[in-house]
Amino acid sequence: MQVQRIMAGMPILNSVQTKNVQQADKAPVSNPVKEDSPKTSQILRNYFMGSQMVNPAFTGFPCSTSNFKVKELEDMPCTCCGRPMMTNKQTDEFALKAGKAAGAELNNILEENMPYFRAEEKAIVHYIQKQLKDMPDATLTTAISRTAPDPVKILQDEQADVIKRTSEKSKELLGEKNPIQSLCERELTKFAAPSKDRRKKDGNNKDFDSAKNGFNRTDFLANIVAMEDKKGIAHENIHKVLDVAVQVPESAKTISKMITSYGYGNNDTQFAKRLIQKAVVTAEHIHPKSKGGPNATDNYMGECQECNGSRGNMSYDEWMKKYPNMPDNIQVHADAVTEEIIKGSIGGNYDDYPVDLKEAIEKETQGKVVLTVKNPEEIDKAREERGLPKPQKDEKERANAAGSYQGSYHGLPELENQNAGKKKPHHHHFERFLPTANTQAA
Ligand SMILES: [Zn+2]
Repeated sequence: MQVQRIMAGMPILNSVQTKNVQQADKAPVSNPVKEDSPKTSQILRNYFMGSQMVNPAFTGFPCSTSNFKVKELEDMPCTCCGRPMMTNKQTDEFALKAGKAAGAELNNILEENMPYFRAEEKAIVHYIQKQLKDMPDATLTTAISRTAPDPVKILQDEQADVIKRTSEKSKELLGEKNPIQSLCERELTKFAAPSKDRRKKDGNNKDFDSAKNGFNRTDFLANIVAMEDKKGIAHENIHKVLDVAVQVPESAKTISKMITSYGYGNNDTQFAKRLIQKAVVTAEHIHPKSKGGPNATDNYMGECQECNGSRGNMSYDEWMKKYPNMPDNIQVHADAVTEEIIKGSIGGNYDDYPVDLKEAIEKETQGKVVLTVKNPEEIDKAREERGLPKPQKDEKERANAAGSYQGSYHGLPELENQNAGKKKPHHHHFERFLPTANTQAA
């Protein structure tokens, strides 16, 4: 799982990086690629663009998640957090654009892409936007390097902001003085006088994260979930409120690492790429790979890199404490993907994917997540009703362990050129993609 998060969407690897990645992965791994092969570079790229290492327990090379066509769809909602996701190509395009921009133009680009930033990243983006008001020539990195930001303050400002937005959402749905609003107001009192002295200065100390003001993301979410039974709030409204509330960041350490590694460098494109990276759509193994889950389409669901990294080997029970809106968001995702299947965006081989997804997720969650999906006949019927053609079957389009299809996107050359001439971040080239505190895999 580590490698999946580390490599997804990164442009290209050299052999040195590859070695490090392999050493980092504790699972038994065999590299099927001889490093002296003339095709090594392309094969390794395909191999890792597919976002996973090959587990020897599974048959055949290549067995890459890049076969999973859902990864090529733009703006699919994440099965877990529900936020819109980007393809690898879209993240590269964002990086190029935001990496070249400054001042008001940069501010507009960040604002346009706001739905894509995940929690800690969004906290930094909001900080940068504030700085741009006073620095019309600032870029992503100079907005950081000229202002020496405090990660704990960035975290707490964003936490308070998300709690306020959660409160607003509850007012919109449930009216003034509703119980969720009261909960949010109680939580906000913890942010009234944040004291820097209360935190440890050592960035490696885990106390650094909690910032000691008593706010706890998991408890906050659990308290909202409990309102359904305790206060009789409709499930649908709880879900809508949770979609806002789950965006609360929780790790000052993650923010600290990101701004230290990228904000003080001189490569705006790399920083932009890092800020958007967690929105990239990855293939989540419904039954974890480490527990024998196969690399096959019927064991995949599209999930953003942030959520995929958070889950690791966690059970769904555990995971749903972190993302209690997940059961609803899988349905939203399944509906969106089904619509693309009906339209023929991902080929006829996916007509039975919604049923496969339903069966896999119901089995894995022991019936706690139940989906309503269309079967292949219903998908055909929907096409007929709308006068849409039935897409042709193409064996390449369906991922399985014996497949050879490698996906169609191999990175923007312009981005690689952009990165080639620039100084790399200060720290080890591999470390910068390590899981962060709040996305640590189990
Ligand atoms: Zn997500």
